[in-house]
Amino acid sequence: MNKIKMTDLESQYLDIQNEINPAIQSVLYSSNFILGTNVIDFEHNLARYFNIKYAISVASGTDAIVLSLLALNISKGDEVITTPFTFIATVEAICRAGATPVFCDIDYNTYNIDCNKLEEKITSKTKAIIPVHLYGLSCNMNKLMYIAKSKKLKVIEDNAQSFGARYFGQLTGTFGNCGCLSFFPGKTLGCFGDGGAVITNDSEIIERIKIFRNHGQTKKYIYAEHGINSRLDEIQAAVLNVKLNHIAKWIQKRIIIAKYYIENINNKNLILPIISTQIQHAFNYFTLRVKSKRNKLQNNLLHYNIPSAIFYPRSLHLQNVYKNFGYKNGDFPIAEQAQNEVLSIPMCPYLNTEQMKYIVKIINHFKR
Ligand SMILES: *Cc1c(COP(=O)(O)O)cnc(C)c1O
Repeated sequence: MNKIKMTDLESQYLDIQNEINPAIQSVLYSSNFILGTNVIDFEHNLARYFNIKYAISVASGTDAIVLSLLALNISKGDEVITTPFTFIATVEAICRAGATPVFCDIDYNTYNIDCNKLEEKITSKTKAIIPVHLYGLSCNMNKLMYIAKSKKLKVIEDNAQSFGARYFGQLTGTFGNCGCLSFFPGKTLGCFGDGGAVITNDSEIIERIKIFRNHGQTKKYIYAEHGINSRLDEIQAAVLNVKLNHIAKWIQKRIIIAKYYIENINNKNLILPIISTQIQHAFNYFTLRVKSKRNKLQNNLLHYNIPSAIFYPRSLHLQNVYKNFGYKNGDFPIAEQAQNEVLSIPMCPYLNTEQMKYIVKIINHFKR
């Protein structure tokens, strides 16, 4: 049996190398590396995939969030509500824009922001909500958008982990003012380095990010804004154009693997992710909740050469870097419980049947 990996990027590359290699080579021959035709094509292709008016590429998913905040004029003195149970980039971006993150606890079953606790976090300073569709599962967008609309708040969806996820048929990332994507290699649509994008129907957001991502330049060497350097490069765009043609099939494969796990993992110590036809999980990660002895299970898996990962072991309100916000242990009990119980097991479209059976067998035999 081939070595099991959390995400088998090597097998993916070998499968599509006949398309990837010439695509990269043509960029090398053109020697046009920044803001060329591959980027323009990719932005069109991405907008078409999401059935949305515009997509603009940037250097990372983190920058996608920072630039969205800047484009919506959110800065010092403004509050942005988000979840403490996310990758740090979400909150890092809020701070980078100069705004103040305000945490709201998560829902036990979905690991996503609990919309029943959202309204009590809104103050006169609140300008936006950043829902994070964690692991590949949509937030409760009906309720969230209803609250945002009634309180006139902007919504920036952190869709970094949920490429291809759907909420009542509609792709996540397309509900709010804009959606942010990450093409970090381990994400469902990953490039060969860093990359990100913002998708939106709002032409003003696009026009502003187009200027911000390129030093604030409006015409060559004419600057209207304080910008940054945050562009997706041509090589990454060429890779993404190839991978985007395969993405639907890869997401289907993830869902098939997840169904196999859900139908076959049978261990009273574990709670499995929810699947529903209305809220279609895209399974960037397959995350178990381990009721007790998570460490022991993780070590046991490792003993049988099965990697696993904890996304994430410490909620952001408990991180040293944010201690000035004054949060403490006990402030967000559901997030704190999740940080102690979650365990993600291998998930990628290149996991084969033999590997899946083996993983299930080892998990089912584990006794706490
Ligand atoms: C990956 C990720 C990002 C962005 O990450 P980059 O590495 O900057 O592309 C943002 N939010 C979440 C939840 C993520 O998982």
